[in-house]
Amino acid sequence: MNSGTTPVDVSQVITAELWLRRLAELSRRRGLAIGAMLGAARRDLDLLLASAALHLPAGDGVGEREASEQLRQFLATTGAMLDTDHAELRRWLVDLGFVERSDRGSDYRRGALPSWLRDAAEQLQAAQLAEAVERSRAEHERERQARKQDWLARAAAAIEVKEERAAEDDAGRLHAADPDAIFMAMALDQAHNGWAMGEVPVGAVIVRDGQVLATGFNQPIANHDPTAHAEIQAMRAAAALLGNYRLSGCTLYVTLEPCAMCAGAIQHARIARLVYGASDPKTGACGSVVDLFAEARLNHHTVVNAGVLADRCGRLLSDFFAERRALRRAGALPIDAWDDDGDQA
Ligand code: ZN
Repeated sequence: MNSGTTPVDVSQVITAELWLRRLAELSRRRGLAIGAMLGAARRDLDLLLASAALHLPAGDGVGEREASEQLRQFLATTGAMLDTDHAELRRWLVDLGFVERSDRGSDYRRGALPSWLRDAAEQLQAAQLAEAVERSRAEHERERQARKQDWLARAAAAIEVKEERAAEDDAGRLHAADPDAIFMAMALDQAHNGWAMGEVPVGAVIVRDGQVLATGFNQPIANHDPTAHAEIQAMRAAAALLGNYRLSGCTLYVTLEPCAMCAGAIQHARIARLVYGASDPKTGACGSVVDLFAEARLNHHTVVNAGVLADRCGRLLSDFFAERRALRRAGALPIDAWDDDGDQA
């Protein structure tokens, strides 16, 4: 049941053990929509629906209230990866035959499960499913914490090195350094925060009159928010701080070339200057894929500077993806986590 196991091949008749393992893998996902799983993910869907059906008795039925209570409990624990409520879930279960409703429509009992699940279902109980899922989630959380501790240790070591170097420098030299490089280094620190949380490491800083107004890092996964890119996070914070949706006179520093969404938001916010680090050949909207800032028909006010600390910004991302591939090879990542590498999300 631990994460070091190889992914389960569910194309075979399943054993109780494999059922629990696949369920543990699926438990690390979030927001699974039943309707969307009807196609390619049908076997996973059947596994989840059968897991829900195990919460209802196989023999005498239970009333609607009891059935709802059981399904609610399933969704709060074992089935928390599903994006649905007990009423919708009950409809799917009945429609797909996992649950039978008596003729009077008031009693619910377990229906005939798909044949590849049937033998295993005989050996499993709802409590075992909950236990397997609980263990998997706890393990996942431990891994996250370990990654975070590891990063904090590395960051602390890096700061010590930086401080040693600074001490060697003439006092004035550090301050005389390129201010764009200094603020980009802060954006890089923000990107590290993202990494520590298991997000693709992109960081942003908003500066006005030489003062940092706001910071942000990429966190769509943790926030369940596809728009939670580093730039958006920082702009939201800056706008809230200023009490103004326009960020006139501000410079936005971001470690990676903004995507089309962020480029649009930057223009809406009237950001005076955009400074970014690494180019993004996959989704960059400042020249790599499209150049929204060169589009004369868009009325924008933003000056763009590219390539500040580009190597460090790019290396951070490639290090992150290298670590992720290694973790995935070692089986320490769910097989379906983060399929779209170069994307911020
Ligand atoms: Zn973006």
